Amino acid sequence: MCGFISIFGPPGSDVVRDALSGLLAIQHRGQDAAGVVAFDKKFETKKGLGLVREVFQQKHLKRLAGPAVVAHVRYPTVGTGSGTDVQPFTIDFPLGIAMAHNGNVTNFQQLKRTYFRQRNIHLHSDCDLEAVLYVFAGALVAARGSDPITPQALQAAVAEVFRVVKGAYSVVGYIAGAGMFAFRDPYGIKPIIMGERHDPDGPTFAVASESVVLDVAGFERHRDLAAGELLWIDEARKPQFFQVGDRPHRPCIFEYMYFARPDSTLDGISVYEARLESGKRLAAAWRETGLEVDAVMPVPESARTAAQTMAEELGVPYREGLVKNRYVGRTFIMANDELRRDSVRDKLNPIRSEFEGKRVLIVDDSIVRGHTSRQLVKIARQMGAAKVYLASYSPPLLHPCLYGIDMSTKRDFIALDRSVEQVAEELGCDYLLFQTIDDMVAATNAHAAHEIEFCKACFAGEYPTGDVTQEMLHDIEHDRLSAAGTDSGGGS
Ligand code: AMP
Repeated sequence: MCGFISIFGPPGSDVVRDALSGLLAIQHRGQDAAGVVAFDKKFETKKGLGLVREVFQQKHLKRLAGPAVVAHVRYPTVGTGSGTDVQPFTIDFPLGIAMAHNGNVTNFQQLKRTYFRQRNIHLHSDCDLEAVLYVFAGALVAARGSDPITPQALQAAVAEVFRVVKGAYSVVGYIAGAGMFAFRDPYGIKPIIMGERHDPDGPTFAVASESVVLDVAGFERHRDLAAGELLWIDEARKPQFFQVGDRPHRPCIFEYMYFARPDSTLDGISVYEARLESGKRLAAAWRETGLEVDAVMPVPESARTAAQTMAEELGVPYREGLVKNRYVGRTFIMANDELRRDSVRDKLNPIRSEFEGKRVLIVDDSIVRGHTSRQLVKIARQMGAAKVYLASYSPPLLHPCLYGIDMSTKRDFIALDRSVEQVAEELGCDYLLFQTIDDMVAATNAHAAHEIEFCKACFAGEYPTGDVTQEMLHDIEHDRLSAAGTDSGGGS
């Protein structure tokens, strides 16, 4: 997963600071690299490995200025990622385009071997955004001839991207001197939302991965892009929407469970409300077990919201027995297993009085490889817990995500080929409860204006793009295994 924000303000304005505060608001979507491309009379770029606050300093703001900006934070899907793959990307010829995306192109390697080779296009990075960028630019140039950019030419370019580039991708970009564009993959798997702000010199528009970015930078009138939709805002600054794709909308459900911030609303559903509801449903399932608990305890941060309603429903105290060191990165994103295991202890410190002699129910958003849970069970026992129960408000993860969430390789999933009892035994806990897929979906839809059918491939193994073959799964597994510990970039 990655995060992006693109802003387009009136002539003479400078939106780079807004973009940087937007990036800070979506730092949780990628901590590996950050980049900004600003356009005034030409593109100016600053990118680097690390957190937003490490990559950008005051001195960069002298050079980076202008009314148009494309910005990105990266979380590499494969390997640890390298400097050459940091987004946004730009091209200067035959058109000036800056672009960033969130997602994963599933036929990237195949396109390199066929589509690009036939056209003599040499990609210079391992980042799949290049595939989107070159297909888009080539088709746009072919469609417009020597005329200015028209909505028709843009629609033709996006249609060609949809025809050629498979997988999931939400894209934002700017065409030098012409306008800002954004589009969402045909199945709308990745989130993307537009907002508008009324500045003294005219309207300013922003498109971002999550609504929290728009809130932070003062943008209102939020509108999600539909699956397969194109947004174009030219110099006249009137947003124009075009429906280019015709596939069913299947947004990623894991965004609600884990990835997005609780203060974001994606496709009209509040992430916070989805998690509150998840906790309620998990409580109902827990009641069925007949097991009594003295406290419900979240694994901070993501699980807090669901743990609160779970405790409320069960009528037992909600307790914060695990204190998070907020300066340690997300454990899952650590480059290798050794780092990951150690960092659980660095990241979460227990409060003994919340465990000693108590039957504690620890709630997490998900269990992937089980490293976090195994460590936490151990810590809880060391702290003298009488019983250690675990509950995950996501169902067991069993299938690799091909659309941009790093689910690692299939063979790492702790729940693969194991019954829930066997997983509990592996983790060393006294009882383990997973949310069911039906409850997860019902919880997420509970406050939706219209019921949504989600992509839940990582839980159920059904891939909405319909083009995922066993061979592809095998290749991706192979790529991820051989890339582990290397510098390959992959999707984002
Ligand atoms: P694990 O320790 O491998 O079982 O990972 C589970 C923990 O990682 C949970 O506490 C989640 O909060 C977090 N997590 C789950 N999925 C992801 C992901 N795709 N990227 C980053 N973190 C994740």
